[in-house]
Amino acid sequence: MSGVVDHLAELTGFRDRDVMDVTLVTALRDLVGGLVAVAIYRCVGEPGEQRWLTRARLRAGDAVATADSLWVDPDALPRLAEHPRRLECLTQRSVLQQREDKDWVTLFPLATEREIVGVLELHTARRLKAEAQRMVSSVLRIYHNFQGLLDYSERDTLTGLLNRKTFDESFLKAVSELPHRLAPVSAGDDRRHAEIHPRYWLGVIDIDHFKSINDRFGHLIGDEVLLLLSRLMRSSFRFNDLLYRFGGEEFVVLMRCEDEADAAHAFERFRLNTAQYAFPQVGRITVSIGFTQIRGGDSPAAAFERADKAVYHAKGAGRNQVQSHAALVAQGTMVEAKQLSDVELF
Ligand code: GH3
Ligand code: MG
Ligand code: MG
Repeated sequence: MSGVVDHLAELTGFRDRDVMDVTLVTALRDLVGGLVAVAIYRCVGEPGEQRWLTRARLRAGDAVATADSLWVDPDALPRLAEHPRRLECLTQRSVLQQREDKDWVTLFPLATEREIVGVLELHTARRLKAEAQRMVSSVLRIYHNFQGLLDYSERDTLTGLLNRKTFDESFLKAVSELPHRLAPVSAGDDRRHAEIHPRYWLGVIDIDHFKSINDRFGHLIGDEVLLLLSRLMRSSFRFNDLLYRFGGEEFVVLMRCEDEADAAHAFERFRLNTAQYAFPQVGRITVSIGFTQIRGGDSPAAAFERADKAVYHAKGAGRNQVQSHAALVAQGTMVEAKQLSDVELF
């Protein structure tokens, strides 16, 4: 019993989802008798294109758990239909158990408040008894409740996107992977370099003339536009891009991609999806977007300011467009802030 309590204390002691998933599989490895392997698979991507992302996997003899990289290319992941039993567990929302070669495989659905998001898969040498299944289900309930608390503190209540509070931490995590000097900004340079050093981009999205939407249709309809726009964001960007509502009608995207052209393409796709979407009651709306590459030694405020300046330029240049801060500087339309060029000295 005290073993279970210790593991639960461990599980709820972290506020980082990656660590929590690893802690969960480690706890179950120790708590479930005759365990061969345990894994958490999440269903990611857009409906019709969904895939299995391995969040944490541990075999009985492993020293550490393995997982797919957070920035894995979604096309490299297996499609839902490639693992029909997991899919069945998702759709039936119930525990499934069956024999597979020498092992018994038991699948538990993983849910949030709103939906089923993945499965927990246990491989055991013997059939998992009802009592053990109940224990696993109880641990999962605690895991689920704690994830709900995390959502409550990290997400915007209207749109469900990440809130501003969590931005600095993810930004600094991304920057910590960068070399502590300016990374090359232009596209078309050495590809091997790009593989060694990941590149991150920050985009600021601001709705055009949003005040007039509120004025003409009222705040409630304005809020509905914000909610629908957040859905367009989820479907336009990749599942592993980090999407934030920064407040009001301003949104931020933190993404990892190879070069400026890819980043510009992703933002352009979202701009177009928005311009083409028929918002109920309101009709058409547009967005202005500014983006910048994140550099080694960048601060969240400095990178945000660059992207925001590009948004400001987009507003002045007629709205409904994407502007790259680097391109504006290269054209001589904008000057690099002094404080940023100091970073180059390191
Ligand atoms: P621009 O094209 O220059 O961006 O014009 P704008 O009207 O979008 O810009 P401005 O910043 O002047 O107005 C933003 C408006 O967003 C002001 C405020 O009424 C509205 N707003 C801010 N937060 C919320 C919210 O949570 N819900 C709703 N419905 N409106 C909001
Ligand atoms: Mg604004
Ligand atoms: Mg606006």
